[in-house]
Amino acid sequence: MSSLQRSAYSTQPVFVYNQLFHHAKECYMSEVLQQLVEMSRYLGDPNRPYAILGEGNTSARIDDDSFYVKASGTTLATITEDGFLPVSIRKVTGVLDDPMAGDAEVSATLRASVLRAGEARMPSVETMMHALLLQYPEYRFIGHTHPVATNGILCSRVSREAMAGRLCPDHIVVMGHKSVYVSYVDPGLVLAREVRAQVRAFIEQEGVLPKCIMLENHGFFAMADTAKKVCNITDMTEKMSQILIGAYAAGGPTWLSEADIRRIDTRPDEHYRQKAIATVKH
Ligand SMILES: [Zn+2]
Repeated sequence: MSSLQRSAYSTQPVFVYNQLFHHAKECYMSEVLQQLVEMSRYLGDPNRPYAILGEGNTSARIDDDSFYVKASGTTLATITEDGFLPVSIRKVTGVLDDPMAGDAEVSATLRASVLRAGEARMPSVETMMHALLLQYPEYRFIGHTHPVATNGILCSRVSREAMAGRLCPDHIVVMGHKSVYVSYVDPGLVLAREVRAQVRAFIEQEGVLPKCIMLENHGFFAMADTAKKVCNITDMTEKMSQILIGAYAAGGPTWLSEADIRRIDTRPDEHYRQKAIATVKH
């Protein structure tokens, strides 16, 4: 056997392995993208009052350092696979720690974070919030919307107290025992830094990852390990906001006690119910 033949023979398994690895990764990426498209269309469906025109954005993790996010200027209701851009988590979040960063640096960072040569479109400025949340490996899908009843509460004087409480067992089962609340600040870099600080404080205090983030005078984020759970959290948030509006109109909500909330959150049968709800098909 010549040395050339020998080297071709010895590198073949590596070549085959690389081919298989790339093929598996491509299959996984297209599966993730397909689920992201379905989730986005669900959240943007005109029959649900969650987002109109170019409102809202969605994302899905590809691997430890990359994710798909909605391109700026696309519409959730009609989005296709082409409406998403692959973006680097590390490149986007880098700008959050730069004390000198302003609007120009944010735009340049977002442009440079797109992992597709020759791509002319930009990810939305809210991509910074998706990137900082996707640093937590437990999150795989994220939906950000501006639902009507939820924003009715978030734009009201009772916003903070209304979003802090829990009213019934399913409220806790689907949305968690507590939500992160972020007071209104300038959208973009300042908001992303504030979201990061509030999520870190929540994890520190509560010892668990939040399922949703309420943004005063703006909208809301649902985070989960599956696309289905993101839809469920968004549906339940909007339903509970409608109930809250009714409760405030009828003299004020009767909140569940801290002990009742903890009981639901730790009951084994409720954990089973959380799992069952998360796997039910639409
Ligand atoms: Zn928004």
